[in-house]
Amino acid sequence: MTDVELSAMATPLVELDIAQAQTENVKSVIEYGQLDADAVRIVLRLRQYGYEAYLVGGCVRDLLLQRTPKDFDIATNARPRQIRALFRNCRLIGRRFRLVHVFSRQGRIFEVSTFRADPGTSQESGDLLIRRDNVFGSAQEDVCRRDFTINGLFFDPQAACIIDFVDGYSDLKKGLLRTIGDPEIRMREDPVRILRAVRFVCKLGFEIEPPTYAAMKAAVGDLPKCSSSRLVEEMFRLLRGGIAKPALQMLMALGALELLFPPLWRFLNEATEEERETFFACVSALDTWLADGKNCSDAVILACLMMVVANPFQLEQQEENMQKLQGFLRELKRDICLPKRVAEGCRNLLLVQRFLAGQRKYKGGLHRFREYVFFEEAMLVFEVWNVATGQFSEELRVWKEGREPALKASAKRPKRRKPSAELSPENGLAAPDGVQDSGFMA
Ligand code: ATP
Ligand code: MG
Repeated sequence: MTDVELSAMATPLVELDIAQAQTENVKSVIEYGQLDADAVRIVLRLRQYGYEAYLVGGCVRDLLLQRTPKDFDIATNARPRQIRALFRNCRLIGRRFRLVHVFSRQGRIFEVSTFRADPGTSQESGDLLIRRDNVFGSAQEDVCRRDFTINGLFFDPQAACIIDFVDGYSDLKKGLLRTIGDPEIRMREDPVRILRAVRFVCKLGFEIEPPTYAAMKAAVGDLPKCSSSRLVEEMFRLLRGGIAKPALQMLMALGALELLFPPLWRFLNEATEEERETFFACVSALDTWLADGKNCSDAVILACLMMVVANPFQLEQQEENMQKLQGFLRELKRDICLPKRVAEGCRNLLLVQRFLAGQRKYKGGLHRFREYVFFEEAMLVFEVWNVATGQFSEELRVWKEGREPALKASAKRPKRRKPSAELSPENGLAAPDGVQDSGFMA
């Protein structure tokens, strides 16, 4: 969208109460070409009807850092129902946090949220945890309940200026991550912010301000108070961001991995130096693959993390490794509410690795394994293992050329065995097509 188009669409600016904010003209930093035309249209439409509206959060941060934003969020003083009345294609979502998803013509989703105020926490028990977050407020109040100063910037696309109540712009320029407000309170009222902090510093290469880091460490023990689904979601966002290796190392240093992924923490503590190295080599290989902005499922991520634990290529130890993997997945499902589909997908991806290595026969011939519905995902896990260990380069090359490797002499049909209760489809651990439900049995 050009300046001309924008000013043609623009209506007079609503009176903004930004006296207390620093405004920074950033025309030279953010160009209109970098903005999302649909997001700007949403801002302008809200303003046309007399509401305040800005771009906010991650998109402003990323634009100022010359990075491509993942999505564009909008904050406004219009209430959810008022927002809904202005956009034909939208829907109200969220229970804890009501907001509106506005769909563009191409079906892209823009999150439009109403300014919130600090909901206030019950101080009596010393429990600061935020349990509801639906108190509407002003633009400034909205910024103050956001997590980090670098995420608390508004961008006014009409005036091309940043509205900064929290000194976030200077932190951005310094490369500093700092909570908005008292770090101890901010971490304890929502310990998920520990994971978010780790994600932002690893992704942006920022430093954490020492009091913020101290508060993260102090709030680690409160992590189990958060909803498991939010923790799992943030954990996978972290692992999916191409920064899994530094992030896992930081979570270990904080003492958080023990609570977030208990069996992985135990494994890393008990592992030999060589196993630990191979584990982190797998994580690095996955990071490199994801760093190009590529995407993969949570099952693939977990499978890459579990490759060393479940090493499917160790023929002599396959039963033992399989048991270990099953124990891991069971624990993750029980203790951190890992979705069943992720556990099941991970197990299946590991189970089929031996077909890719030519160590196991496939029903109808190995060439048919290419038709397996998760073939591409299985190949990605196989490739990660290859990059991490140097094993199976020939097999990988052959698959990539559209052929299949020769079966190893040791490859036999899997024994037909009655599936054990643990492996039965009823508990969600069904084997993929062509795979007998006998673990890694050859
Ligand atoms: P990304 O680019 O990875 O999506 P983001 O900063 O946009 O990063 P989101 O999870 O999309 O992160 O959240 C959007 C904005 O909402 C954040 O920038 C922040 O201002 C606010 N926010 C999100 N989660 C929290 C939280 N737990 N506590 C306070 N503010 C939050
Ligand atoms: Mg975002």
